[in-house]
Amino acid sequence: MAQETVFTPDVKFVRELQKAGADTLKKCYQCATCSVVCPLAPDDKPFPRKEMLMAQWGLKDELLKSSDIWLCHNCNDCSKYCPRGARPGDVLAILRKTVIQENAFPRFMGKLVGDPNNIWQALLIPIVLFLVILGVTGHLHIPEGQVVFSKFFPVEIIDGVFVPLSALAVGMFAVSISRFWKNMTEASGMTPKAEFMPSLIETLKEIMTHSKFRKCDENKDRSVSHALVFYGFIGLAITTGWAVFNLYVLHWELPYAVDEHSLAIFGGSAALAWAYKIVFKLFANASALMLLVGGVLVITNHLKERSVETTTSSFDWLFAGIVLMVGVSGFLAQVMRVTNFPAALAYGTYFIHLVLVFYIIVYLPYSKLAHFVYRTAAITYTKMLKRDVEM
Ligand code: SF4
Ligand code: SF4
Repeated sequence: MAQETVFTPDVKFVRELQKAGADTLKKCYQCATCSVVCPLAPDDKPFPRKEMLMAQWGLKDELLKSSDIWLCHNCNDCSKYCPRGARPGDVLAILRKTVIQENAFPRFMGKLVGDPNNIWQALLIPIVLFLVILGVTGHLHIPEGQVVFSKFFPVEIIDGVFVPLSALAVGMFAVSISRFWKNMTEASGMTPKAEFMPSLIETLKEIMTHSKFRKCDENKDRSVSHALVFYGFIGLAITTGWAVFNLYVLHWELPYAVDEHSLAIFGGSAALAWAYKIVFKLFANASALMLLVGGVLVITNHLKERSVETTTSSFDWLFAGIVLMVGVSGFLAQVMRVTNFPAALAYGTYFIHLVLVFYIIVYLPYSKLAHFVYRTAAITYTKMLKRDVEM
């Protein structure tokens, strides 16, 4: 006799999803149009129809352990063709946000960063922390003379805050991802048919080239905005590492003019010192520009999406807004420094920039940015199962 499977609907979970933005999920009447039109759904047990059914029933465990919801790239082709306006693409986006919150370590950080209503509390943490540190180190005042940010917030103090907190964030993220991996692999109950490393390399290739984004019909522009934000972040991460190298290995703070120390580093060649400095600045500015342009495009795409039976969750709006503000505040601070703007405004803008950078880096395991790692893990696993759509 076939074994009976008992599902217990979790009504509270359904309400939570609806409150988070998946308010249309009850409209679905299981026609499966979405699974047919989705360019990324595998032939075997395609998404998102089955996830819509599971969401209606509140099958929390099954949904939060699913790898399929991460194969979706939120192109919203499905939402465009859904005859009931159930917006399956948006429902999957809310489910992914919920997975990040549920796996967060510690859990309260998932709630703090994952719920846009908590944005002021989340920003207050770095604001208070920075003010206390500036006060304790005797820097809580506007320095006189030419605007030089390190006079206000010395680099050693910035590093003293960001390096240990970034390391802590990496540790927390590792715990969250290992929880997710364990849940996902245990829930699938399938035996992998491929090795982990080749699957991971294939996944990373796909992500770097954004090949899956380009398969979408609706919202093709997302591949451009997403790539700009993606490479902008990678560029800024390299810039940060490079700046640390300049400071702690070369003991060189890239002064305005080439000085004796610069000449000593570059074997007496002023041309080499200038070239190095210019390449560094160009790389940093190009990365920031990509982030800025990508952020603007993300927001304009979100506005455009409103016309195709879809909506953007406040979680996504918040992330897009923070990305944009990081780029804008960074640019403004730099312009204010070189044009010697009124000191209070320049230092104030720099302070805001650091608060936003804190949000991006230290809250990474709980923010929209975390989806990059969750998605990489899930796609890698589906490739190990040979379940992924071939590109
Ligand atoms: S979400 Fe829409 S397209 Fe998909 S099964 Fe439900 S009603 Fe049909
Ligand atoms: S949003 Fe795009 S990728 Fe996601 S399920 Fe819908 S059609 Fe597929």
